[in-house]
Amino acid sequence: MGFVYGYDPITGREKLACDYCGSIGGVRKHDCPFGYCQPVAMCPSCWEKHKKTWRSEHIKSRCDEYESEFQEREQTKQGLLNQGYMVRVAAEGMPNKKVKVWFRDIAGNEYQYMMDESTYHAIPLMTPATLESYKKYGKVMRID
Ligand SMILES: [Zn+2]
Ligand SMILES: [Zn+2]
Repeated sequence: MGFVYGYDPITGREKLACDYCGSIGGVRKHDCPFGYCQPVAMCPSCWEKHKKTWRSEHIKSRCDEYESEFQEREQTKQGLLNQGYMVRVAAEGMPNKKVKVWFRDIAGNEYQYMMDESTYHAIPLMTPATLESYKKYGKVMRID
């Protein structure tokens, strides 16, 4: 989500606009209490309406859970890297039901591999995946 800017009619300068009402006076960015979702720009009166429930609004949208799951995944990924595994960082669908997958090692080097779509989908997207774990599901070919 990008921030919206409006023109201050007095100074003619661009100013941050409130995400809720679009006004531009005294608008500030408010971070997610769990550091998970995007910060929101709010004018003082909209913030006044939201500040008491700000934390519970984010708990309702499960920012706390998502953030701790994210941290867990990051730790798992780091653990795998430390053990010398390469972890999946990106993927791109290719013709003929193939997927090109990028893996990264602990030094930050990236390597490209090609595999079948069915192999790629054998590991859920949210699970940190290594090159070795894909090899259990199908043929994986280095292509770069
Ligand atoms: Zn507002
Ligand atoms: Zn949030």
